[in-house]
Amino acid sequence: MADSEPREVYSAANAQEAHFIKTALEEAGVEAHVVGDHLQNAVGDLPAVAIAPRVWVNAENFDRARTIIADTQARHQPGATPASQWKCAGCSETNEPSFEICWNCQAARSGKE
Ligand SMILES: [Zn+2]
Repeated sequence: MADSEPREVYSAANAQEAHFIKTALEEAGVEAHVVGDHLQNAVGDLPAVAIAPRVWVNAENFDRARTIIADTQARHQPGATPASQWKCAGCSETNEPSFEICWNCQAARSGKE
């Protein structure tokens, strides 16, 4: 029974981030709830730091949710992944950083220049 209890999986800096995480989880098939963001309306005079909306998931999804959140943050954090475009060694076309193979000639992305 304890496995279906909600657990806090993430403490967000603001409601926007909390809902961003919630959306990412739900897109991955994990039901999630934002707790505490409504306080932002009720106590609007408090500094933002006092308001920390949390994202809750069922305990059975906790580990998976942590992984999804880590992946989501890694993808959206500047510098966490190579953010620069890369040039194909085969055809000299420029590729987006997220591409693992050249869009033009399908050559594998070379490790380092
Ligand atoms: Zn190429």
